[in-house]
Amino acid sequence: MNQTNIFIATAVAAVCGSAYAAEPASMLPASNPFATVSPLQWGYPQFDKIKNEDYAPAFAEGMRINAAEIEAIANNPKPATFDNTIVALEKSGQLLSRVSTVFFSLSGANTNDTFKALERELSPKLSAHSDAIRLNAKLYARIKSLYDKRDKLHLDAESKYLLQRYNTDFVRAGARLSDADKEKLKAMNGELAKLQTSFAQNVLEEANASALIVDTREELAGMSDKAIDAAAAVAKTRGLEGKFAIPVVNTTGQANLAVLTNRAVRERLMAASLARGSHGGKFDNTDVVLKLARLRAEKAALLGYPNFAAYSLEDQTAQTPEAVNKMLSEFARPAVANAKKEGAEIQQVIDKENGGFQLAAQDWSFYSDKVRAERFNFDQNQLKPYFELNNVLTNGVFFAANKVYGLTFKERKDLPVYDPDVRVWDVFDADGKQLAIFIGDYYARSNKRGGAWMNAYVSQSKLMGTHPIIANHLNIPKPNAGEPTLLTYDELRTAFHEFGHALHGMFSNVNYPRFSGTRVPRDFVEFPSQVNEMWSVWPEVLANYAKHYQTGAAMPQELLDKVIASKKFNEGFRTTEYLAASMLDQKWHQLGASQIPTDLLGFEAASLKAAGVDYAPVPPRYRTTYFSHVFSGGYSAGYYGYLWSEKLDADTVNWFNEHGGMLRKNGDWFRKMLLSRGGTMDAMDMYRKFRGRDATIEPLLERRGLTEK
Ligand SMILES: [Zn+2]
Repeated sequence: MNQTNIFIATAVAAVCGSAYAAEPASMLPASNPFATVSPLQWGYPQFDKIKNEDYAPAFAEGMRINAAEIEAIANNPKPATFDNTIVALEKSGQLLSRVSTVFFSLSGANTNDTFKALERELSPKLSAHSDAIRLNAKLYARIKSLYDKRDKLHLDAESKYLLQRYNTDFVRAGARLSDADKEKLKAMNGELAKLQTSFAQNVLEEANASALIVDTREELAGMSDKAIDAAAAVAKTRGLEGKFAIPVVNTTGQANLAVLTNRAVRERLMAASLARGSHGGKFDNTDVVLKLARLRAEKAALLGYPNFAAYSLEDQTAQTPEAVNKMLSEFARPAVANAKKEGAEIQQVIDKENGGFQLAAQDWSFYSDKVRAERFNFDQNQLKPYFELNNVLTNGVFFAANKVYGLTFKERKDLPVYDPDVRVWDVFDADGKQLAIFIGDYYARSNKRGGAWMNAYVSQSKLMGTHPIIANHLNIPKPNAGEPTLLTYDELRTAFHEFGHALHGMFSNVNYPRFSGTRVPRDFVEFPSQVNEMWSVWPEVLANYAKHYQTGAAMPQELLDKVIASKKFNEGFRTTEYLAASMLDQKWHQLGASQIPTDLLGFEAASLKAAGVDYAPVPPRYRTTYFSHVFSGGYSAGYYGYLWSEKLDADTVNWFNEHGGMLRKNGDWFRKMLLSRGGTMDAMDMYRKFRGRDATIEPLLERRGLTEK
């Protein structure tokens, strides 16, 4: 995943000093670490000095200054010029950006109750702040006057595209509406922000409330003793001493389903997961979803679109709901056929063991692991001793970046961190000049959200004189003191994936903050990170890092071959559960305001059936009432984007292979034509200039094991 600040698209993190863009003086006390740019290298955040109580005043002052800057730009008596309007906007909001970058990064990576409360308070305020800018009529009149004569302004290509982007951003935010409609829109945005917060809070509370409670240790057979002890401890904190509680995680699938041997317990766990948010009670999300869907459809209609998906997709590389529907439906038939084939193999194992039941959703991962062990004759745990975290990073992830791009890394201990396990590196370019600062936060913590993501603490921009400070976050369980951190294959792949996002941020070589690094369309942003995964199993890279943590012995070739041979295993399941969720996202957001159903679960079932992805043993990866990506996160009508960008990824992996593989000349070309360009031009044009043609779908079908019809 990739995290960008969705609240203030025009703001940017910046640093001061003589070479940097100036900013208005704030009235914050000098003791507030956000008052001025951090004195640490390149504006690196003063994690050791920032206190909880510093945020609220910095946000308030940041919004006040930003509003004053916007007024000054909008009311400038001089005629609009690119410099006094667009460039001035790019330079505005530095304090607000500085505080929000750190706040929203840490609210994901290192939160606490003060953060959570402040987040609830801030989201409608930031939404109103953003509306006040985007719906400012005088400001938009200046932008439009420039946009209308864009061909006569003699702008360079990046500046011209920036002007175009500003016009589009403002129009999409409602700048062309009548005053009365603007007021309606502001009210809708405020209501949407509140509903999205309610949805997110219900999901969190419901996950806690849905924990599976069992009475005896025996019922948890299959789980490790350590995990069972942990379940007992969780039950105790809930006043259920002597019982066991298994928390429910965000996806429909639950990790414990792979190990629990008692089918009735698996069934109860799966049922608890699937019912989240739709079985009545305090945290039911049915009403919230129906209101959100209706309000989004109404907002789209106000802005002139038939439905919310049409509004949202117009600004993505996919452009239309028809294009997204076409891709999803092309994948559905072969993916479901593939999943059914996998299901039949699983049924054989069940029958061989005289199970006496039909495969159901709760059985899939338990039995598919058995099929894997039988077919490929290895168990995931055999790999772990070869994937030690530090080795994977320095001899794998960084080694590949050295071979492909010429980068070198030097760890430093002088910069403050917000948790003692967080590590910091200086990153040097091939010519020896420092390129970036890289922060690695790899371990899971109770105050860190799930999943993995990248973010920029400081984004590169020539206009602002800033250099990239980029962080990666994973959720690897921390071992006991003195024990090594051994990764699963998935965690290993995630480390390479997130570093792909990091490279996109570090190689950024743009003028304007609006275009820096990963500020590209959402259905394009996963592409560079997915490409970087290819190096995780590249023979030369593997040989360099996959060494036994005790003996230093290389991973045996036959084990390696088994890993590679099993890559397409379970892809039918993986693609089908993803497609089912993507379809739900599209179905909800392709409704007009008058088409919103009253029966949420009925609509969901009918939608899956109509899309041909209603194969019961493979439920959607997320059901509607706990689908946070689309009802509280930034992926509304956008969940298809992962598969959409994987098409470019698979085509690019082929390009590397066709051109000799892991060579500097290939890396340099990919960097020059793609990674360094951020959002400075149309994403598909950029791809064509890199590849010499459009991407084709075949490499992705091949990878996902979907070529056999
Ligand atoms: Zn990602």
